[in-house]
Amino acid sequence: MSSQNSLKLKGKTTKTDLVSKVYEKLQKNILKFKQVSNKPLTLGEKILIGHLDQSTDFMTFNGLTPGNGYILLNPDRVALQDVTGQTTILQFMQAGIKQVLAPTTVHCDHLIQARVGSASDTKAAIYENNEVYQFLESASRKYGIGFWKPGAGIIHQVVLENYAFPGGLMIGTDSHTPNAGGLGMLAIGVGGLDAAEVMAGLPWEVLYPKRIGVYLTGKLNGWTSSKDIILFVASKLTVSGGTNAIIEYFGPGARNVSCTGKATITNMGAEIGATCSVFSYDSKMESYLISTGRKDLADIANKNKELLTLDPIIEKEISQNRENATKYFDQLIEINLDDLEPYIVGPHTPDLARPISKMAEDIQKNNYLDTISVSLIGSCTNSSYEDMSRAADIAKQAIEKGIKTRTPLQVTPGSEMIRETIERDGQIQLLRDIGANVLANACGPCIGQWSRPEIKKGEPNTIVTSYNRNFPGRNDGRRETMNFIGSPELVIALALGGRLSFNPLKDELEASDGTKFKLNPPKLAPEVPKEGFKDTVDIYVPPATDPESVAVVIDKNSQRLQALEPFLEWDGNDFSKLPVLTKVMGKCTTDHISPAGPWLMYRGHLDRLSDNLLLGAVNAFRDGEVGKGLNLLNKNIETFSHIAREYKQNGLKWIIIGDNNYGEGSSREHAAMTPRYLGCAAVIAKSFARIHETNLKKQGILALTFVESSNYEKIREDDRISIINLRDLRPKGVVTAVLYHSDGTVEQIPLIHSYNDAQLKWFRAGSALNILRSR
Ligand code: SF4
Repeated sequence: MSSQNSLKLKGKTTKTDLVSKVYEKLQKNILKFKQVSNKPLTLGEKILIGHLDQSTDFMTFNGLTPGNGYILLNPDRVALQDVTGQTTILQFMQAGIKQVLAPTTVHCDHLIQARVGSASDTKAAIYENNEVYQFLESASRKYGIGFWKPGAGIIHQVVLENYAFPGGLMIGTDSHTPNAGGLGMLAIGVGGLDAAEVMAGLPWEVLYPKRIGVYLTGKLNGWTSSKDIILFVASKLTVSGGTNAIIEYFGPGARNVSCTGKATITNMGAEIGATCSVFSYDSKMESYLISTGRKDLADIANKNKELLTLDPIIEKEISQNRENATKYFDQLIEINLDDLEPYIVGPHTPDLARPISKMAEDIQKNNYLDTISVSLIGSCTNSSYEDMSRAADIAKQAIEKGIKTRTPLQVTPGSEMIRETIERDGQIQLLRDIGANVLANACGPCIGQWSRPEIKKGEPNTIVTSYNRNFPGRNDGRRETMNFIGSPELVIALALGGRLSFNPLKDELEASDGTKFKLNPPKLAPEVPKEGFKDTVDIYVPPATDPESVAVVIDKNSQRLQALEPFLEWDGNDFSKLPVLTKVMGKCTTDHISPAGPWLMYRGHLDRLSDNLLLGAVNAFRDGEVGKGLNLLNKNIETFSHIAREYKQNGLKWIIIGDNNYGEGSSREHAAMTPRYLGCAAVIAKSFARIHETNLKKQGILALTFVESSNYEKIREDDRISIINLRDLRPKGVVTAVLYHSDGTVEQIPLIHSYNDAQLKWFRAGSALNILRSR
């Protein structure tokens, strides 16, 4: 037996019988659906249909239009990371259920801070986060959850290597859960309460999504990589263009992209707000399954190909005439990979894209800092065997010319399995030889867990990464750091050039002997290692065989963990003359509402964490001041959490006014829990990001949208706002807000909401968790 198979037999994988049952249900449901409508189906539709809850009426389902109507689904798996997972498990515990009813895993990846290097950083994290890890491990063992230790790897990479399977449906408490779409799975980032409900055996509800098709032809070549496909798509769709949509990649070009390359693309679908992204099953996925010790799953997938791919007629019709796409997709994007250029996006937003050939011009135009302070590759997005091999090929060319990088270079392997494999096969050594430092198999600099004592406070600087997010403050907690994103091989080239304006396609480097040379494009790299992936030991703790004997460890005096108290139910009254805590201006991601970095350590302690409320939000009332506003009670300028606490002490609820796509970015439900905890009654925005809107609803906050976006301008700093006739709330209705201005004038503005019946019950009960508990 190979080491690969021995690894998989220890229980760290999705079981064959589970997958067989999923395919049986897919088959059954699709047949049932075809009796109602015999139209060809996309893969996204097949997986949705195959996972519909048994209560679904297929006739009603067939009548749904995208964006209108909710569907109930039964996910096959749940994945939790160590930060959002704390609250998820605390919420699950409140349901009073003995064991999870959907296969679930916890992954310790977000809490490891990057300081020096892999071994010492992981050791320090285990010491500093000991009580959190003990809680997660003990709760996992008790409730039947697989526990991946600190250092085992980043959630999405570990899921791809072990749990993802074609045709499956999973949810995860992390916005990059769609990574598993690279292996043909519908994988969706959700809030912790959604996950807790599925773990408790309830179906999961989601807005019936739109369908965006991306038709790929041609083949990646030269410097162009899978990263450039998604960077290009992001430039077309922008950060909100994929909202409430499944993005489905298909066409001959899709079959030319490696499985892990596909995962890079689906991972970053989160950057454009997509519900998830997916590719049809193909030979690239088959070879990845086999290489990661899951030949049994590849065999079943091969027998069920018609369930795991979009109906061939769709691709045929679209290849003949693009107009045919309207029959199957709400929108079609076409990319000829033969013509695609390498892209760089940023700073501060992933949809600010340009081909590398235009970068130098953009730097001049926008006064970006050309000197790169640090270059970083890896993360859950781009640390595959193929990625690292291509990056190492560039490193090899530099070594042969006797040069090293001109910037510090940090490498984050996505998992212990990939780290050990690229250590064995030499890629890491090549990167070390040009000056790389290898960080822990963890999120680190991708989520603000990055100690950079060498950078002074407020010092502007440029970094280049192969990560996925680049909001201000995302990487090192400093808003002045400008993050540009590109493929790993491009980042290595930029690290060698030392400048953002360096274009490896045309610019030369200087060899150690003074001669000039140009880098060659990276060689075609193996998608999976010839010798298979290395086995790993001591990174996984299975559920206990005697769960009754396991006690969940929570220290009563903990500063990191706090048992949750239920939020109060709605008292049945209108919201009357509430103050506005802030009117947010421009981009307000969940990172702005509930920042990560040093705050990650308090994610299990709601009271302490609430001190970070809106710390990154730009206040439209105060000339763009960040994190502070006017306290209407004492007229002082204070942090939002301070003001909110004072309002709360005085029995005052309050309101947040949001701009466009309020709450985009990470799925973190704390961005809804902390406002709720401090007394937020409603958020009124021009528009919401999907996950955050649901999170607000679940926590009992009224999520409302301006009917006329321009009414945002009418809200003044010292207004009091009433929201009236709440007893008459009906699904998808209109609500009226009354603005009481301090000059005595009063005006009414219409608002809309997207609540359905079940969600209105959450509002009335005070939270969705209160409903779960009452069951
Ligand atoms: S995107 Fe970054 S923070 Fe999120 S899971 Fe991946 S590596 Fe971790």
